[in-house]
Amino acid sequence: MLTKIKTLRPTYAYIDLENYKHNIEIAKKLSNSKIIAIVKADAYGHGAIKIAEFAYKQCGVTHFGVATIEEGINLRKKLNDAHIIILGYVDEKYYDEILANNLILTIYDYNFASSFNNYLISKNRVHPAALKIDTGMNRLGFNTDLNYFELSSTFSNIKFVLCMTHLSSSDTDREYTEFQINMFKDFLKREKINIPTSVLNSSAICLYKNDFDYTRPGIMTYGYVYPENSFGLKPVMKIFSKIVHVKELKRGDKVSYNQKFTADKKMKIGVVPIGYADGYFRNLSNRGFMYINGKRCNVVGSVCMDMTMIDISHLTENEITEEVEILGENVRADMLAELCDTISYEILCAISDRIPRVYSNDY
Ligand SMILES: *Cc1c(COP(=O)(O)O)cnc(C)c1O
Repeated sequence: MLTKIKTLRPTYAYIDLENYKHNIEIAKKLSNSKIIAIVKADAYGHGAIKIAEFAYKQCGVTHFGVATIEEGINLRKKLNDAHIIILGYVDEKYYDEILANNLILTIYDYNFASSFNNYLISKNRVHPAALKIDTGMNRLGFNTDLNYFELSSTFSNIKFVLCMTHLSSSDTDREYTEFQINMFKDFLKREKINIPTSVLNSSAICLYKNDFDYTRPGIMTYGYVYPENSFGLKPVMKIFSKIVHVKELKRGDKVSYNQKFTADKKMKIGVVPIGYADGYFRNLSNRGFMYINGKRCNVVGSVCMDMTMIDISHLTENEITEEVEILGENVRADMLAELCDTISYEILCAISDRIPRVYSNDY
């Protein structure tokens, strides 16, 4: 692939849109409903504009979820007709932008509803918004004692078009997840909610039956789901590089900052131009691994800001010049996450702008 791709540094992230499409199909099938594709945080590091454009044009996705107003505005520049929902906080200073860009706010408390409604009255406008209910995440949302009739009639310039709640533990706790889902269902019934609803995120889509109008898949569309990837999801981001320098070590030689690695025999070490400034976590020091020609090569010594050393003692001379897989089929983000005591989401989001994203439909 290296020869085909023009980037100045040999390290790049290949974004496999066919795999994204494949994952979207799985999400749709398991959801048995429409989906709101979650593209916050620059589409979990994959590039929100490119991903959303592709999803809209090639996968029939019409609804997108982002976290911030900037993310919403940027998406709107490319997608005229898509429904774009901002899932997080928006300051009232920017309500003009919400209207100008036709973005859907998520209203999660009375103050927010009141301030947005007052603004709409002052502009003589009615505008759509999503309603967020808290069923146990204890992050954003009205509690389930909300009187929906009262809310929607008091703030009648807000037209609620979606009612949602967010699951806190769909990947780890069935009992709590069912508790949340039931609490939400009770609320919908009691308040006679007649607008579309949405509950499930990725792991819930994989593990639970969907009884609502929309699901909100994020991580699964990028190829991962916890606890187990038994749904045929394929990683979308693959990071490649090459070895830029080879070192011959003798027994006792030390590698990288603070000599955290000592060669216990004659060894060959390769320098790969990726480091923690690229989002390759320093926690991977002496722990991470890369793949060359199907062979695992362990990270040796501390990961530096811009470079990382790997053990290539077992490779042939020809293999040393081949492409290094830093993330992909063999080195999955959930494997690196486990080594860093985190989740695949963080591994993907952390990949910094210094790594150019190259899209499978770019050439
Ligand atoms: C991020 C997010 C999602 C997507 O979650 P995944 O676990 O990545 O599928 C869905 N809904 C809300 C409100 C979110 O913030």
